[in-house]
Amino acid sequence: MKKYNFNAGPSILSQFAIEETAKAILDFNGSGLSLMEVSHRSKEFDAVLNETVELFKEVLGVPEGYQVLFLGGGASLQFCMVPYNLLNRKAAYLNTGTWANKAMKEAKLFGEVVEVASSKDDNYTHIPKDYVIPADADYFHITTNNTIFGTEIRKDLDSPVPLVADMSSDIFSRPMDVSKYGLIYGGAQKNLSCAGVAFVVVREDLLGKVERPIPSMLDYRIHIKNNSMFNTPPCVPVFTALQTLKWLKATGGVESMQRRNQAKADLLYAAIDNSKLFRGTAAKEDRSVMNVCFVMQEGCEAYEKPFLEFAQSRGMVGIKGHRSVGGFRASIYNAMDLEGVQALVDCIADFEKTV
Ligand SMILES: *Cc1c(COP(=O)(O)O)cnc(C)c1O
Repeated sequence: MKKYNFNAGPSILSQFAIEETAKAILDFNGSGLSLMEVSHRSKEFDAVLNETVELFKEVLGVPEGYQVLFLGGGASLQFCMVPYNLLNRKAAYLNTGTWANKAMKEAKLFGEVVEVASSKDDNYTHIPKDYVIPADADYFHITTNNTIFGTEIRKDLDSPVPLVADMSSDIFSRPMDVSKYGLIYGGAQKNLSCAGVAFVVVREDLLGKVERPIPSMLDYRIHIKNNSMFNTPPCVPVFTALQTLKWLKATGGVESMQRRNQAKADLLYAAIDNSKLFRGTAAKEDRSVMNVCFVMQEGCEAYEKPFLEFAQSRGMVGIKGHRSVGGFRASIYNAMDLEGVQALVDCIADFEKTV
């Protein structure tokens, strides 16, 4: 039976990226060696890293003055690296969910953290809109897509201070104006690669302004100077990221992804809104195009388990909701095609016929 992968992360990758990685794991570049057993300092791997950086810049539209890094430690290490490198006295954070909280917790180790607004009181079902960003903050941090709660900031905000964004789960899902950001980071395992690497896009002139000494491994300038090879980079995840970028470019880039993603999300949200059993949890204007959260309507709770079993029997994988929301979550990242979303929509409709 065909499996439809709605996992939140690590999550679906294009068939192209999986197959090319599998081939390189068996024989990298016709070398007779596996990608897993070649030197990261070899000419061949150096070319992979450089091409990944160049294609990342091209597909996302990264302007002059920015550096792209591939680092270990996931997005979670960036929760600490960002303030380590950028926070002198005060930073502003928008609290839109679990990941934003984790980012704030680390920043508090380095200085004052101003929570400009929070949607905690409604269990993060909306994105706060009215808030003031302190003009004397070193930066303003947002989480563009709240993977757990299914809300998303889908436009590039204006900020009087450098804007820092955790884009772990919506990078490359739409065209964006990178010049509006001071720093963008994320774990690759949602929309770019397998687990093991994080990406960082940083405006270089923001660095070198904090007073504290920074350990080498946590200093962006060291990684920039060494072209992400200060130590051994996660070679296989970087290679897979390159394949995803090639696939993205061949599919029409971020403009085409935006159209595809919107069509997928519209189809699934419409099915949920028109259903007599389910309802979406996020405020309509803030709904994520990547993670669709939905629960049983009041009085229908008894159908939750049967629906999960029904969906599993139809090949749906990973739709159980996160414990902080309950119900269901379908992650429909770039690599999920419309046909997969249609299969889930059909599954919802067919289940409704059985009750
Ligand atoms: C998954 C996720 C993270 C955590 O990423 P790790 O690579 O596991 O550290 C952080 N932020 C967001 C928005 C995520 O979706």
